[in-house]
Parts: sequence; C-alpha cells; structure tokens
Amino acid sequence: MLRSVILAASRSSRVERLVATAPFSRDVVRRFVAGAQTDDALRATRELVDGGLAVTLDHLGEDTVSPEQATAVRDEYLTLLGRLAEAGLTPAAEVSVKLSALGQAFDEQLAYDNARAICAAAEAAQTTVTLDMEDHTTTDSTLDILAKLRKDYPSTGAVLQAYLRRTESDCRDLATAGSRVRLCKGAYKEPESVAYQSPREVDKSYVRCLNILMSGDGFPMLATHDPRLIAIAEDRARWFDRAPDRFEFQMLYGIRPEEQDRLVGDGYTVRTYVPYGDDWYGYLMRRLAERPANLAFFARALTSR
Ligand code: FAD
Repeated sequence: MLRSVILAASRSSRVERLVATAPFSRDVVRRFVAGAQTDDALRATRELVDGGLAVTLDHLGEDTVSPEQATAVRDEYLTLLGRLAEAGLTPAAEVSVKLSALGQAFDEQLAYDNARAICAAAEAAQTTVTLDMEDHTTTDSTLDILAKLRKDYPSTGAVLQAYLRRTESDCRDLATAGSRVRLCKGAYKEPESVAYQSPREVDKSYVRCLNILMSGDGFPMLATHDPRLIAIAEDRARWFDRAPDRFEFQMLYGIRPEEQDRLVGDGYTVRTYVPYGDDWYGYLMRRLAERPANLAFFARALTSR
C-alpha cells in the first residue's frame, strides 16, 4: 500500500515541487545522489575508487520525450567517459545507461544509435557500459538492442530482474562466455501475470538465477543489499569454485556502505552504482518505494535541522 502511494507520488509534479523545496531535501538527496554536475560525479567516483570500490555511473533522467533530449543525454555520457579516462578513473569506473533516456519509448533505432555511440566512447576510454533494465514492457526491446550492441561491443552488460517469471530462462541464455550480467530483484511495480509478487518468491527466484549465473560461463554482477542473498552468493562462489575476480557484488551509492567495505576487505570486487544529475526525484522516490523504512531517513533529516 505504502509502496503504491510512494510510486504514485513519484509521478506527481506537485509532490516533486514540495519535496524539492523542503528544507531537508538537500541532505537526503546527497546521501543517495552524487550531485547535479559531471564534476560531482567525478568527485564521488574518485572518493569511492580511492576507498577500493569500483563504480558504475548513472546519469539520471528517464522522461526523455524528444530526440533532442535523447541526444543531450548521449552527449553527457560522452563527456563523462572522456573526463573519467582523463582523470585515470577507468577501467575502475564504467557507466550504466537507461535506454528510455536515449529515446527507446518513441524511436528504438535512435536509442540503439545513441547507445552504440556511448559503447564506442566507453571502448575508447577502456571501460564498459551496462544497460539498466526498466519495466517489463521494455525487456524484449532492451535485450534485442543488447544483442546487437554485443556484436561489436561484447563487454556490454545486461541487467536481469529476479522478480520477472521469464528471468531464469533469460539467465540461461546469457550465462555464456564473456557475457556480463547484473542480477537484481527488480524495482518497478509489475503485474502478477509477469512478476512474482511476494518477497519470498522473488528471493527464491533470485537464488535460482544466481545458481545459473554462478555455475555458468559469464561474469555475474550480483546487485543486492540483502544479507541473506550476499551470504548465499559467497557460498556459491566457493561451491562453484569461482574466484573473486570472476564475479562482483554491486550496491547503490549511500546504501550499506559498511557492508560494501566489508566485502572489499574480504577480497571481493564491489561496484557502487552512483547516480548523478538534476533529475534525482524519480530515482529517489523509487528507492523509498523499495524500502519504505528509508522514510525514517527523511524523518531523521527533517527533525535534525
Ligand atoms: P531488498 O529486498 O530491498 O532488501 C533486502 C534486505 O537488504 C533488507 O531486509 C535489509 O536487510 C537489507 N537492506 C536493503 N536496503 C537497506 C538499507 N538501505 N540499509 C540497510 N539494509 C538494507 N532495478 C531494476 O529494476 N533495474 C536495474 O537496472 C537496477 N539496477 C540496479 C543496480 C544496482 C547496483 C543495484 C544495487 C540495484 C539495482 N536495481 C535495479 C534495484 C533492485 O532491483 C532492487 O530494487 C534494490 O536493489 C532493492 O533490492 P535488494 O536486493 O537490495 O533487497
């Protein structure tokens, strides 16, 4: 119920204006988002990389409705990749890209062309691109574009969402040599016809998918903050004899930073997903919808000022 309310609020421009102007907003946003500018993204990346973490950067923006907007998003990624390389932050830092931000909703070919330009820039910067996965109506299109991109840029990463009923089968298809696959639970509100609804079913699906990826030939990227799933992943790494350099953990910026450091201390690669940009509102509201307990963080920030 609370999740539905927050997701509805994430689409309301009135609530957005209220949140954006509230006095506590700056501190809350700062915890989950590196900042608005490319410089902020670079600063956060430098700090994390110096602390032993790998990074994937996401330029926030999902409501692309014109080719001009899509081109501007592409250009921001090209600038970012150039700056990361210049600063010596690649290959430790790569980028995560949402095809919707590149025009997928109104022109698939344009989204593909833009993604291709980003992959070329990433290759020149000696790093990689991962295509974020959005709601289930885009899964086929995203996987098709991924397959095309991989012909020339085989290191392009996929994201699969354990809550979708189809994902075990997608994991089997993608657990092949050279294939980078991020496995997450899934962040969108999806109908029962396509997605498991209970947390227990989603967790069980995550473990089945993890088994497929960890026993396969690809490079699993296990994106979760869930202590039980992290423990299972560590167990499977031992079981399937998968050395720490043959998979990685991924977590979001500002979430469980001590656990991120603990895993690095134990010899694992941990990649922090760092969002930056002006369009932080939708991103932040989804984080709250995933875990309404994060609202307590809002409340604390509010009362401490
Ligand atoms: P949850 O079910 O949210 O939490 C499980 C347990 O983890 C909790 O009970 C708690 O013990 C612990 N925990 C969780 N959050 C916290 C916290 N803030 N503090 C302390 N403990 C906590 N989704 C997509 O749909 N598409 C994507 O492309 C995508 N990319 C992602 C990339 C990365 C790197 C990550 C980490 C997530 C991504 N997601 C994506 C979001 C993902 O699908 C989940 O919505 C999100 O990660 C929450 O699920 P969880 O596995 O962390 O576990």
